Amino acid sequence: MENADMAWDQECDVLVVGSGGGSLVGAYGAASRGLDTLVIEKTAYFGGTTAYAGAGLWLPGNQSQARDGLEDSADLGRAYFRAVVGDATPHEVQDAYLDGAAETVAFLEDNPHVRFEYRPFPDYFAAPGRFEAGRAVFPVDLPTADGPRELLDAVRPPAWAERLGLPVPDGPLTDGRALIGRLLLALESTGNGRTLRHTALTRLITEDGAVIGAEAEQDGRTLRIRARRGVLLAAGGFEANAELRRTWQDLPGADWTMGAPGGNTGDAITAAVEAGAATGLLDQSWWCPSLRFPDGSAAFTLGLHGGIFVDGSGRRFANESLPYDQMGRQMLAAKAGTTHDSPVWWVFDGRFGDELPGITVVPADRKAFTEAGLWHTADTLHGLAERIGVDTEALRTTVQAFNGYAADGVDEDFHRGEDAYDRFFAQGEGANPCLVPIEEGPFHAVQIVLGDLGTKGGVRTDVLARALREDGTPIPGLYAAGNTAASVSGPYYPGPGVPIGSAMVFGHIAASHMAE
Ligand code: FAD
Repeated sequence: MENADMAWDQECDVLVVGSGGGSLVGAYGAASRGLDTLVIEKTAYFGGTTAYAGAGLWLPGNQSQARDGLEDSADLGRAYFRAVVGDATPHEVQDAYLDGAAETVAFLEDNPHVRFEYRPFPDYFAAPGRFEAGRAVFPVDLPTADGPRELLDAVRPPAWAERLGLPVPDGPLTDGRALIGRLLLALESTGNGRTLRHTALTRLITEDGAVIGAEAEQDGRTLRIRARRGVLLAAGGFEANAELRRTWQDLPGADWTMGAPGGNTGDAITAAVEAGAATGLLDQSWWCPSLRFPDGSAAFTLGLHGGIFVDGSGRRFANESLPYDQMGRQMLAAKAGTTHDSPVWWVFDGRFGDELPGITVVPADRKAFTEAGLWHTADTLHGLAERIGVDTEALRTTVQAFNGYAADGVDEDFHRGEDAYDRFFAQGEGANPCLVPIEEGPFHAVQIVLGDLGTKGGVRTDVLARALREDGTPIPGLYAAGNTAASVSGPYYPGPGVPIGSAMVFGHIAASHMAE
């Protein structure tokens, strides 16, 4: 949009669009270097999907790991990342992430409000350089007394509370909420950061091919915001945009995303494309199996310690203990759980009582699920197969084979339990604790669909997080990070914390460049 002559409603040095991890690291980076920084956030809350996250951060070689006795380095991380991602993304962009990780943590921890700690959570691939006990760091819990109430109350509630309409629990902010709270406090401490909620970027303003500002909608009026140094787009992906999901991902819609509601409809990607940016990886998401809810939504499900997944034919199609993104990709390959008429059923037996044998980030109410036809129970496997419309003989054969594998400790079909990640969540006994037989009635089947933690395709960026045109040249004044950018990990999810960790590093790099 080339109409730079009109009057400005707001002026700043750096405009940051969105308030997830990448945005706030970028905003803090710019503001702490004396740049007048404005953060605009579309929704009522700060934090986006980052606030929902466990907030593991994959940042190899950082000082927080070292404090907790973990010997890691950018080079060890590089060996692993390269082995997993290979040539799927430019090596120099991968290196910018890996070489920038430790510096990003050091820079942030220089502010007294920001603190990280190591917690075990395995890397996701059996590749050279892997840390089987994990290398991710997490934000330290944030006591509410450490910040002004009105600021911390503006952090998005936890996913389960927001989805179920329950009050935000008292006590410290944890996980992704702690990260957002800490970064907001850091930003505030600079004295150079301003924030506007309920303010949505609609388009970028350009002059001679450079981005010099943006338009945003606030309470039905249009704000023209001038950004003297540049605009950082870190406004999530397009996970909540049903039309774009159909166009770019061939999915039925946007109902099954675990992304935070109300925000991530791809506005920033669309605006960047209008300003001349190239895109990549639009068919990609951070996938996950998800429990289908009676209201039509779905919730991220991981860490199975019991049961198997069967498709509509009554057969298994993957190792159910796979890291969630890899399981999602198996679902895509098998076309299982990807549409409303290709069900996946999580089949388990009565030993778990009323509980699901796995972690769902939003708890399931068995009665409501049963009434909605999403949770079936029967005294026999035969009866269960009939209830879920699966061939009775096929389900019997599948379960019989699986029980045989459980007895022997070897999953001859999908090698479940052979990887460190599989075993991280195991609670069974015997030779292979990941293989828990399905033999005691009543038998259960719960519906699983393909969900995601956000899309990961978007604006193509370079080592400085600058948005690129189709010809590979940067658009002056325009930067992108997080799920607004095409991910540095390509079609892979190498380990816990790559989404937010990489968003933070590229947010930091963008701010450093704008401050030069
Ligand atoms: P977001 O954090 O969603 O932030 C984008 C913000 O931009 C939102 O607040 C949105 O409202 C705002 N916005 C959108 N459009 C506009 C607009 N037009 N104008 C202004 N603002 C706008 N990843 C990890 O790395 N580690 C984990 O441990 C982890 N655990 C997870 C657990 C769960 C339950 C979930 C759901 C996800 C998890 N993820 C994790 C994935 C990760 O949370 C997301 O991929 C990541 O947070 C996305 O970051 P982002 O900055 O791109 O977007």
